Order: sequence, then structure tokens, then C-alpha cells
Amino acid sequence: MEITLTPKPHFVVIPWLATSHLIPIVDIACLLAAHGAVVTIITTPINAQLVQSCVNRSGDLVTSGIMVTSIPFPVADVGLPEGCERVDNVPSPDMVPRFFDAAMQFGDAVAHHCRLMRPRRPSCIIAGISHTWAHVMARELGTPCFIFHGFCAFSLLCCEYLQRHKPHEAVAFQMQDRLGDHREFELAVNGIVVNSFEELEHDCVARLAAATGKTVFAVGPVSLCRSPTLDDSGAASDDAKRCMVWLDAKKPKSVLYVSFGSAGRMPPVQLMQLGMALVSCPWPVLWVIKGADSLPDDVKSWLQQNTDADGVADSQCLAVRGWAPQVAILSHPAVGGFLTHCGWGSTLESIAAGVPMAAWPFSAEQFLNEKLIVDVIGIGVSIGVTKPTEGLLTGGKDGGGEEKAEVGAEQVKRALKSLMDGGVEGEERIKKVQELKAKANHVLEENGSSYMNLEKLIQSAI
Ligand code: UDP
Repeated sequence: MEITLTPKPHFVVIPWLATSHLIPIVDIACLLAAHGAVVTIITTPINAQLVQSCVNRSGDLVTSGIMVTSIPFPVADVGLPEGCERVDNVPSPDMVPRFFDAAMQFGDAVAHHCRLMRPRRPSCIIAGISHTWAHVMARELGTPCFIFHGFCAFSLLCCEYLQRHKPHEAVAFQMQDRLGDHREFELAVNGIVVNSFEELEHDCVARLAAATGKTVFAVGPVSLCRSPTLDDSGAASDDAKRCMVWLDAKKPKSVLYVSFGSAGRMPPVQLMQLGMALVSCPWPVLWVIKGADSLPDDVKSWLQQNTDADGVADSQCLAVRGWAPQVAILSHPAVGGFLTHCGWGSTLESIAAGVPMAAWPFSAEQFLNEKLIVDVIGIGVSIGVTKPTEGLLTGGKDGGGEEKAEVGAEQVKRALKSLMDGGVEGEERIKKVQELKAKANHVLEENGSSYMNLEKLIQSAI
């Protein structure tokens, strides 16, 4: 009898060029490889180093199924500084359109590369949110194309309703053309890959599928595919070791972890209000500060005097100025609460670790995620921020920052007390997030919902 072996599908994964997109989409690539697919990740030279180190930490079985290909990013052609290959590294907001121009040119080079791919031609494309050219390439190659936004299903559903009912139409958008490109991409793709799990967002995954008419594959929480003891370079950096030694000396559930994602910076006046709240609260605090080098001298010296940068085990407020091993921190038994900007990566990592949150959204869909955390699922409290934080890319310089802080230290302290010491309501939030942690840890196991959705994603490429 002749046995025909089904060929392994070949996924071409093209992460959007931002740190927080790279992390989960590479995890998705690793999960696909663990399920038997062949994967090529295409990115730029500098990002290829990060991607390769993330892949390497996944073990031989996965690593052998993944190839990382780098294609130059034309920074010089558009007038960006050399090495500027992630949107979070663009030096000023007015240069962001140049980054998108470079990404379009990068798309032409990727398409050229994919046309010539031998012996394994691509059988499916998964492209990050702003690679809006990817559906045209996929059509030419005759493969399905799936989009990865990095958002949860709830936020995507809200965005879909906004697109449909257009309450924003009267507002002038600086990047209207880009939004048009994004919409065209969203409408053209065959499906949506979401880093979430069906049991988490009530029926939002199914509703998103119904509202968009697309297949939605909820395959998360993808961070669970990696070892929580390693940071993103696959080894424990000095910062990572310091955090762990400091946490080891703390009582269970006693520590407040504070971090605002890969790039979140607040204006110095706001940072000072937050700082005053943190150093006066009764819980040990692990505080990740991005852009500390560009803070004004008086803020720097205040931080110097009031926080500990060296990680002395009995200090009350440890400040980390580099890259913190967030997944490992959140899974440490000493951590009892997370003050977060509600980026979806951070939110889901907190849920997967069973840690309740205080929500301080900065921008974009983070305000929707806050609603999900606080009002829909009931696993967090709101700090009470009402408008986007200015000066995200500039740390409040170049006129981006506000003179006055929106949120005062007392307001922050009240919300943190409710998070860390919230009585019956606090217990209820902890119970809910612990239940979700248990579910999150089951869904990627055989026959779990995310496991099955990964299988469906692979089938759709055969
Ligand atoms: N992250 C980290 N260490 C840091 C800052 C961020 O490991 O010091 C990771 C975090 O675990 C998450 C991602 O970076 O996976 C941030 O993604 P998120 O969607 O929360 O926020 P964004 O960076 O897009 O604002």
C-alpha cells in the first residue's frame, strides 16, 4: 500500500517592527513549530538577533523547525537614523511616518524574497498589524493571509464596531491614510490570530468572528510557551538576577510590581507624583522605569535618593532602569499586584500568573483593555486616568509633556490600597484572577481550546 505523507505547512511569519509585537508573534511561531509546522520568520537585521535569541530558548525541537531570515530595513532612504528598526526606537513622533514608508519598502523586498523561496514555498502568511502590504503578497503567492494585531478580542470587537458606526468620523486624524491602509488589510485577510483564549473574554472571540466574518484563532496565552526563569535574551541578565534576588527576600503576595510596557514613559511631573505614591506605600515596590537617562536632573536625583537601583535585598523600592524579566517577575510568589499601562501583552501575562492589576492606560487600545480588566472580567482596579499620556516617544520632551500631572499621588495611593489591601472586593478579584490562571494554564495543553485552535490554524494552511 502506498502511503502519502501530508507535507508540513510552511508558515511565513512577519512580525510588526515593535518590541511588544515581536515578543508574542515569535511565541506564536514557536507554538506552530511545536505543533509540527515549518516556520520562516522574516524580519530586519537588528530584530533578527532578538528573534533568534527568543527562538533559541525554546528548545531543540522547536528551534529546528524555525528559520530566521533578515532583510535590510531601508532607514537611509527615508532619513531615519541607522539601526532604527523598531517603531519604539524612532527618535521623535514626527519621524514615525518615515518609519511606515520604510516598512512599505521593506514589504517589497520581503515579497521579492518570498517569490523566490525554494524548495519550500510559503503555504500561509501571518503578518503583524502594520504590514498592510502582506495581503497583496499572499494573494500573489496563492496562500491564505492572517493578521496579528497584538490586541485582545474585546478591543478588536470594539474597534470593529467603531469602524462600522464611525463615531470618530468628525475627528481629524493625522494618519487618516494609514488607517485606510490598515482597514483595507483587515478586510482582505482570511483570518485573525489573537493572543488570548476563548474562556477569558466571555464570548468576544465568537462575536469578533461574527462581526468581521473572519475565522478568529485564539491561541494564547503564548507567553506560557517559554520558561519563566529566562529573560528575552534567553539568559539571566544582571537586571534579571537582581530582581529575582530581591523578590526572593520578600513575603508571598507582598510586592507591588510597576511597569508600563516596552516603551511607556510619562512626563516628569507625572512620574514624580507616581514616585511619591510608590515610596510612601507600605508594600515593597519593584518599579521599572523606561527612559530614566533622559529625565531632568532634579527627577533623576530624587529617584537616586528614594529608590534602590542596586537591589539590596531589604530595600523597599527597587528601581529597574533596563529590561525587566517581566514574565518571571509576575510568576514569582512574592508578587501580589501589578500596576500596568494595560498593554495586552502585560495584561495577559498578569492573568496567566494570577496577579490582579491596577490599570493606568497610556494610549491606544489600552483604555479598552482597562474596561475589560476592571468592568468586564473584574480582576483589577482603575487608577482613574481619563486621557492619553502625552510624549510617549519623547518622555515628555519636545513639548509633548504636560505641565501638570493628571493623576496626583493621593489618587494613586487610594487605587493601590484597593489593589493590595482591598478587603472582600479585593479577595473576590484575587479569586477570579486565580481561576483564570488555572484556565490559562490548561488551554495550551492537548485538547485545550488554544491547542485546538493552533491545530486549526495549521490545518488551514495545508
Ligand atoms: N517587557 C519586559 N520587560 C520590560 C518591559 C516590557 O519583558 O522591562 C515585555 C512584557 O513582558 C510584554 C511586552 O514587553 O511582553 C510589553 O507588551 P505590552 O503589550 O504589554 O505593551 P507595549 O510595550 O506594547 O506598550
